[in-house]
Amino acid sequence: MITQNEVELAPLLWYKIGGKAQYLFDCKSKKDILQALEVIKLNNVSKVFVVGLGSNLIFTDDYYDGAIIRIANDPTISSVRLTPEGLVESFAGDLLDTVIQFSLNHELVGLEWGGGLPGTLGAAVRGNVGAFGGEIKDNLVSVDILDYEGERPELKTMSKAELEFSYRESWIKTHEKKIVITARFNLKKGTPEEVTAAKEVYQKNIQFRKDRHPLEYPNCGSVFKNIRDKQQVEKVLTICPELTESVEKKWYGKVAVASLIEKLGLKGYRIGDAQVSEKHALFIVNVGHASARDVKQVISDIQGKFKEKFGFQLETEVEIVQ
Ligand SMILES: Cc1cc2nc3c(=O)[nH]c(=O)nc-3n(C[C@H](O)[C@H](O)[C@H](O)COP(=O)(O)OP(=O)(O)OC[C@H]3O[C@@H](n4cnc5c(N)ncnc54)[C@H](O)[C@@H]3O)c2cc1C
Repeated sequence: MITQNEVELAPLLWYKIGGKAQYLFDCKSKKDILQALEVIKLNNVSKVFVVGLGSNLIFTDDYYDGAIIRIANDPTISSVRLTPEGLVESFAGDLLDTVIQFSLNHELVGLEWGGGLPGTLGAAVRGNVGAFGGEIKDNLVSVDILDYEGERPELKTMSKAELEFSYRESWIKTHEKKIVITARFNLKKGTPEEVTAAKEVYQKNIQFRKDRHPLEYPNCGSVFKNIRDKQQVEKVLTICPELTESVEKKWYGKVAVASLIEKLGLKGYRIGDAQVSEKHALFIVNVGHASARDVKQVISDIQGKFKEKFGFQLETEVEIVQ
């Protein structure tokens, strides 16, 4: 484990935004994480935050007077393995992409929808990430969690049912002081045709993201959740009936918020170096040296204009760490 004091967080995070943190514990294994928690306890550090790649975070510009536990391997490191029962098992710090590639190389299909989705496995499980109709929960069997709420950290294995997954939610997300350590998946052994098809889906999804998302700039993914609440969908469609077809046919009953941000005339809207992407309005890109304050102002301006027009609040998907 590497421990550092007074660390600039921005270079470590996907968005390249963030102030200094008092302590950083760079953890590459369960042992590292346990050791970090011990040091944190011995030094009476009360604020602790876990990060992976930071691809779903807006970190404060201010000083973080606590400890950051970073659980993220680089793409060349992999702890993924096949268990004797044939499950794919991996450490939380491995990239989701590493797990997908391992699976496809072992002719196991079911995770290919995640092609191009950035982030670590631990964060993917916590947030039940999903794309193109797939969700991480779909093939998940169990997860080892480190619970550090009590006097001593406790390791427990939780089943998929116990983790209460729903859209971008899980038991881990709604309970404090829980760290994902290991996750296991039951994937289908594909026929040669199925494996070829899965590899094509994986590549196609990577390409789709390159074509549609502003990957040329640091960003934090979708800033807002698309609208799923029935009453809210109806409200939007009363004001913008022209979206009815796309809601029904393309978005499975949801409203794509990017199209509403465009309708509000906010595509390209910029404060400092934080800009609503010209390529995809659900992204706020960091076009230079954006501060968290700039990004938060853009978010709040979008929310303000949105509420004025549609009468309810847009919910953020990205997590803002104060
Ligand atoms: C270009 C782009 C496209 C994206 N597309 C999608 C998409 O299609 N679908 C989707 O669902 N998301 C998407 N995201 C969001 C992001 O990829 C996911 O939320 C991802 O899981 C974040 O992983 P991370 O390692 O970067 O986590 P971070 O952003 O570092 O952390 C996210 C949260 O997870 C917690 N966390 C991290 N590691 C652990 C752990 N081991 N145990 C417990 N908690 C942990 C953190 O405390 C934090 O609360 C996208 C993001 C970007 C930048």
